[in-house]
Amino acid sequence: MSHNVTLILGDGIGPEIAKVTQKVIDATGVKISWEEVEAGIDIMAKEGTPLPEKTLASCRKNKVALKAPVTTPVGTGFRSVNVALRQQLGLYACVRPCKSYEGVRSKYNNIDLVIVRENTEDLYAGIEFEKDKTETVTLIETIKKLSGKKIRDDSGISIKPISVTGTKKIVEYAFAYAVANGRKKVSAIHKANIMKFTDGLFLSVAREVAKKYPAIEFNDVIVDNMTMQLVQKPELYDVLVLPNLYGDILSDLCAGLVGGLGVAPGANIGENGMAVFEATHGSAPRYKGLNKVNPTALILSGMLMLKHLGEIKASEKLEKAVMRVIKAGKDVTYDMKADRNDPSAVGTREMGEAIIKELAKQ
Ligand code: NAD
Repeated sequence: MSHNVTLILGDGIGPEIAKVTQKVIDATGVKISWEEVEAGIDIMAKEGTPLPEKTLASCRKNKVALKAPVTTPVGTGFRSVNVALRQQLGLYACVRPCKSYEGVRSKYNNIDLVIVRENTEDLYAGIEFEKDKTETVTLIETIKKLSGKKIRDDSGISIKPISVTGTKKIVEYAFAYAVANGRKKVSAIHKANIMKFTDGLFLSVAREVAKKYPAIEFNDVIVDNMTMQLVQKPELYDVLVLPNLYGDILSDLCAGLVGGLGVAPGANIGENGMAVFEATHGSAPRYKGLNKVNPTALILSGMLMLKHLGEIKASEKLEKAVMRVIKAGKDVTYDMKADRNDPSAVGTREMGEAIIKELAKQ
């Protein structure tokens, strides 16, 4: 059976890692009919929008997409394509497995964590009020009237909504993921001691949901404590479920535990099989077109995509091929060498070719 998949080429290093990943996935033997579409600053220059309707329509039609990274210029009023895509497609869960692979240079070798991040609410909901704008002045006055609290007049304001509906959905997803993947424990991460009506709500809903899953251990940890614990004793944790902002930050922390952004894959999951798979890293614009960066994170995102498509054997085969290339340490990009200037480091395409060779041996 052939699967229809949207391939979002992205910008910066996006197109080059997307093309290599596409080739590697095709080499697993799974039949995929790819529909290539664009997003990001290159297409914005041509069409006036970084997220053309055609791209969204293709994702909606095919339900499954593999997405290369996209640049979000800071402070230009250009809203994040990534946030818009998640909101438009209702991709409420961001799942980022962080697993140690032998041969990856890292201070740890025993990490096997999964981050389940809420993707639509919290401070990333995009509800913001700019300093000095009329509506901001009104909001500051209203808050003073309602709460008696004074916000400084020269403030910008970002709103942090966390709902029962959104929290239930993400915590249910985390427990269902734990059950489906043979995981033993779910930890809810929050700052409920300070933000009682947002993080406090997140925690109380998480506790309620946890009661329905007595076979899975549940605990909760305050986010600042969690960052320390992840550095000191990551082996105590299994599946972490978090509101959007903490999820974003701890994803990078956990990527660091397993050897960095070059090897950290991810999946954005919605309703009815809708899913967009992408690396945790961004578009690294200064490496654009150099055939230099590590394609592993997007290839492993492709591995998660194969699993989602029900191609379990092919996904296992692909993970094994990636693991072998990394373990051998020869045909790997600069970031995986002990010395980042090691002249024996290979390029993006060559690392992809080495993975394809390993696939052929299985
Ligand atoms: P980045 O992840 O693009 O790059 C940071 C550094 O990490 C790079 O300079 C490079 O040294 C290293 N790196 C990243 N990917 C690598 C790879 N595949 N192989 C080897 N090294 C790699 O982060 P940034 O510089 O903060 O962001 C650049 C742009 O990407 C920004 O506009 C940001 O908004 C965007 N971004 C997009 C996504 C996404 O599309 N999902 C995610 C994060 C950031």
